[in-house]
Amino acid sequence: MRFSTPVEYETITQALVKGACPFCTYLKNFQSKILHELQDPQQIAGLCNFHTWAMAAAANRAVVSAVFRKLMNDASCRECTICTAIKTEEAAQMKEFAAQVPGTRVLEWVKSQGTFCIPHGTRLLSQVPASLQQVVLNVLKRSTVQLQEALEQVASGKSEDKGQGGGVLGHAAEFLVSQRGL
Ligand SMILES: [Zn+2]
Ligand SMILES: [Zn+2]
Repeated sequence: MRFSTPVEYETITQALVKGACPFCTYLKNFQSKILHELQDPQQIAGLCNFHTWAMAAAANRAVVSAVFRKLMNDASCRECTICTAIKTEEAAQMKEFAAQVPGTRVLEWVKSQGTFCIPHGTRLLSQVPASLQQVVLNVLKRSTVQLQEALEQVASGKSEDKGQGGGVLGHAAEFLVSQRGL
């Protein structure tokens, strides 16, 4: 699979866009950045199935060749370096979100239009103060209702959605399990 050119996010709130989980958006970009900017093959100790294939499609073929050679010489299965980096960044961004958002207009936007995928929404619940927990639960509930209505339309053949660009099923998959590889 291909990864888009990464952009510079200074805060998690810049990743808030309608219809997408901000943590998925932020971390997908973070993942692209790792793949684009990797220079030193020694930084990669191990790779999961998904990130091995992501590497195979990455732009810097010389670095990726060196990474693959290194992993072949060291056949012990180690934890995926990229998954570990994503988990660490995810925890940091959840803390950041919990610290930045209360009492702001951003929070009002999240209440009315925000989305979290189920895995990130659920993890966020354990990171935020009680005052924010209800907001997260309401956002998850609203997203569930909207997606279930859209899925019913697809099931009954009434939907205009033909699945291009992921469509309703793609959105439902993202909501259920986050974006690919996250
Ligand atoms: Zn997410
Ligand atoms: Zn991985």
